Amino acid sequence: PVNLYGELRKNSMGVNFSNDNELKALAEAVQAKSGPWTAEPLVPGAKSTGATVAVTNPADRRQSVGSYVAADSATVEKALANAVAAQHNWDRLPAASRAAILEHAAELLEARRGEFIALCVREAGKSLPDSIAEIREAADFLRYYATMARRLFGHPEQLPGPTGESNQLFLNGRGVFVCISPWNFPLAIFLGQVSAALAAGNAVIAKPAEQTSLIGYAAVKLLHEAGVPAEVLQYLPGDGATVGAALTKDPRVAGVAFTGSTETAWAINRALAARNAPIAALIAETGGQNAMIADSSALPEQIVKDVVASAFQSAGQRCSAARVLFVQEDIADKVCEMLAGAMAELKVGDPGQLSTDVGPVIDEDAKKILVDHAARMDKEAKKIGEVTLDAANTGNGTFFAPRAYEIPGLSTLTREIFGPVLHVIRWKADELPKVVEAINATGYGLTLGIHSRINDTVDYIQSHARVGNCYVNRNQIGAVVGVQPFGGEALSGTGPKAGGPHYLLRFAGERTLTINT
Ligand code: GLU
Repeated sequence: PVNLYGELRKNSMGVNFSNDNELKALAEAVQAKSGPWTAEPLVPGAKSTGATVAVTNPADRRQSVGSYVAADSATVEKALANAVAAQHNWDRLPAASRAAILEHAAELLEARRGEFIALCVREAGKSLPDSIAEIREAADFLRYYATMARRLFGHPEQLPGPTGESNQLFLNGRGVFVCISPWNFPLAIFLGQVSAALAAGNAVIAKPAEQTSLIGYAAVKLLHEAGVPAEVLQYLPGDGATVGAALTKDPRVAGVAFTGSTETAWAINRALAARNAPIAALIAETGGQNAMIADSSALPEQIVKDVVASAFQSAGQRCSAARVLFVQEDIADKVCEMLAGAMAELKVGDPGQLSTDVGPVIDEDAKKILVDHAARMDKEAKKIGEVTLDAANTGNGTFFAPRAYEIPGLSTLTREIFGPVLHVIRWKADELPKVVEAINATGYGLTLGIHSRINDTVDYIQSHARVGNCYVNRNQIGAVVGVQPFGGEALSGTGPKAGGPHYLLRFAGERTLTINT
């Protein structure tokens, strides 16, 4: 495809599931990489004496995946000093050189996808198709931001001015960037944030989610091998309360890219604001209370297929996932019956098997929130469907059976439920404005699905809903880099959208140069 700036760019190729040879080679590559993996902070001149943390497989807690050494406070301090010292030279490098390194990293990543897929399956419990998609998205981010860095940072913009004067506008890196990434896209979002910050000319300190530190380590090693200097990209595993908090309160930090909960984004924003230091940039991508609205002109089969994918793929652990289906009452009984039927077909189990639809949730804490929510829904709502778990295959992991409940209204939901639970609300023909108002009133604004064959209805919803990503007559997950730039508004994030043409600008400073000639 041709991107907004007229340059040719191809998205990463996936795996052809109907080609047995390709599948067999991939399965062998994944099997060959079984760990154990180890990781430690990557900070030149520091050796952390922090705790060694054991990593086990969410699909089977008896299986060790490896371990990592958490960063201690001396290592955090050294990383900040290194980053400050390395910033200038990296920023001075021509944008084309930085871009070439990122493109080289994309090649290396695709060539070694077997190991990265194995890590995504074992450490993050992601299904095979999700893990393959994760590698593709990560490679897409690397190439996309490389392209954008060349375009935006490659040469100054010449501006008009009076005769005898030359005026130029330059983009430069802002300074040291901290990237704090989530466990649900441990490679794609991790590398997306890091590669954007690097492309724009910033030294980066990357803090992976505690649950997926090993994947983050492998990703940073890959970028080092591709040519990013060790001081320019450093890796600091550890928990948010110590490592994350120490970084965000430090006056040397010029910007933070964060993906995770709205509550953590508030805490980061407060920490940055409390410093007597240069005002930092915050790029936050947070939660959602995403809805799909279906009217009676829509095809029930298509609604069900798309809502099942949107609510239950990735065990519902996407911030884009559909949490609430608003279905017009004329077709509601039919849709609920078909939904229960489709859910009965879902297979929950080992994420390493191609036949698995839904893997485990990330950890015990995540599971407990879901179990508590389900217990409340069992009392207060009507259950439409529940997947039966096969105890033999799920007994040792953090599995949670996907469920669907009918609820009277959005006020039943007090918070984002980050897992495979779908809520269904019926609406009457004249209630569409109320439905859209209720969705806006949640304060979130990430994704919205619309199922309708009436253009006026689609136009009405699309123009009144305050959401970042709207999808019509399809599922509402899996935004593609450069195709559906991703990110929400209000409680869902600050923008600009990841994988979109304006993302790098928030990582940049601007300078003008006026010369009297
Ligand atoms: N970009 C992903 C999608 O479109 C979601 C990212 C997230 O969960 O943070 O499904």
